[in-house]
Order: sequence, then C-alpha cells, then structure tokens
Amino acid sequence: MRVRVLGSSPVRPNPGGACTGYLVQEGSQSLLVDCGTGVLGQLLQHLSLPQLDAVFISHAHPDHCLDLVNIRQSLAYVPSERRRHPLPVLASSATIATLRELGAVFSGTDGAFWDGYCAFHAVSPEQSEQLGPLTLDFAWTRHYLPCLALRARADNRCLVFGADGGPDDDLEHFATAADLLILESTLLHGQALAEGPERGHISGAEAARVAERAGVRRLLLTHYFAEWGPQVLAEARAAGSVTVDLARQGDLHEC
Ligand SMILES: [Zn+2]
Ligand SMILES: [Zn+2]
Repeated sequence: MRVRVLGSSPVRPNPGGACTGYLVQEGSQSLLVDCGTGVLGQLLQHLSLPQLDAVFISHAHPDHCLDLVNIRQSLAYVPSERRRHPLPVLASSATIATLRELGAVFSGTDGAFWDGYCAFHAVSPEQSEQLGPLTLDFAWTRHYLPCLALRARADNRCLVFGADGGPDDDLEHFATAADLLILESTLLHGQALAEGPERGHISGAEAARVAERAGVRRLLLTHYFAEWGPQVLAEARAAGSVTVDLARQGDLHEC
C-alpha cells in the first residue's frame, strides 16, 4: 500500500500547505482520504481525476471536505478531468447530509450540484466496504461533529487514519497492530492537559501513547500547526518508543 501525504495542515492551511488529504493506492486502486482546503491542487500533481476510484470524507469540517466542491467543479468544467461515471464519495450519512446542504448553496434553484459528478455512499462502523483490493472499516471518533476514522487493509498490510478526535480508548483497539497509523496532533501537550479530557483533539504525545499501546509499527503525526511541528514531534518522541515522524506534504510512505 502506498500513502502519499497531500496535506497535513490543521484547521487552516499552513503557509504554502494544504489541509488534510492522503492518497492511498494499492495496485491500480486509488482512494483519496479527506479533501480539505488545497488538497485538489496537490492531488493533481500525482493523478488525474479520471484515475481516482473513490473519495472518503471523515467529517464535514472545512479542513477535511471543502475541496470536494472543487473536485466537482473540475469534473463539470475541465474536459481532461471528466469521468465516465460519477466519483464515489464514501462518508457517514451525517456528513453526506451536510455536503448536500453545501451543494444546495452552490446550485441555485435546481439543487443538483453533485448529481452526475459525485455519487454519495453512506458508510458506518457496522459494515466493511470493499474497494478493489482494499478492505475498508470505520470507527466513530470523539469530535465536535460526527467523524469517522478509517482502516484500510490489503495483502496483510494495515493503514489506520484517525481523522480528528479527542482522547478515546476505542481508537487503540481500532488501530491495533497497524503497520502505519496516521493520527492528529493539533495540540501542544500543555494545551491538551489544560483543556481536560473532554475535547475533540489530541497532542502529539497522546498520539504516541495511543500508537504504543496499540502496538503499531509506525506513527505519522498529521493536523499540526507548522510553527509547532518540531515541538509536537519532540513531545511525541519523548512520550513513547514508537517510531514517529511528522507527515510532510508530498512525502510517500510504503505501508
Ligand atoms: Zn480538522
Ligand atoms: Zn474536525
């Protein structure tokens, strides 16, 4: 499995960066995992939209979904980006409802903004999905909106993307023995402690502890403010012995 970092910025793009986006490829299958602000421009450096098999949207915060609007615009207006079939978009039913509302804002009176371009498919923790060789599972996170983490498995390899979420013991279970775990690190650890346990984000140190308890092989920290990146990474490295690095835009990871 190949995992390309398209964007690892948090709630807004870091200078010169994009918000959350990962291109997951196995064989000829290509799955875009989240499509935040700036992700489409990064994606198009690696692949054209007709080559994209599906998109997964973890939740409806703008830093995870807003560039899906620009994907739709590309499909409608850029001849070289047109597809023969609508692009499958996997998300929870709550996220789909918000995306439909967003589409209605842009579509004027006919309300058909997404029709023919993006085909929404509701997913949930109750059911796995198959995308070519990729088996996909989902788990709710503790966030401010309904948010799904993603697990992708193929050929005995396992990738887990934690999306956005606060402290949650269930995440360790979901990520058990993953080859690559991508976890948010929005907060410095002092901030996390000050906010208490009821919050929708974690620190790099907390991410490292989750990764260690889950027995994952490698941790990538995402959703971090660029100016805090070195400190987030240092805190994570000090918190455990798991192999950890920052997700840097453009990097390719084998999983
Ligand atoms: Zn976010
Ligand atoms: Zn969020």
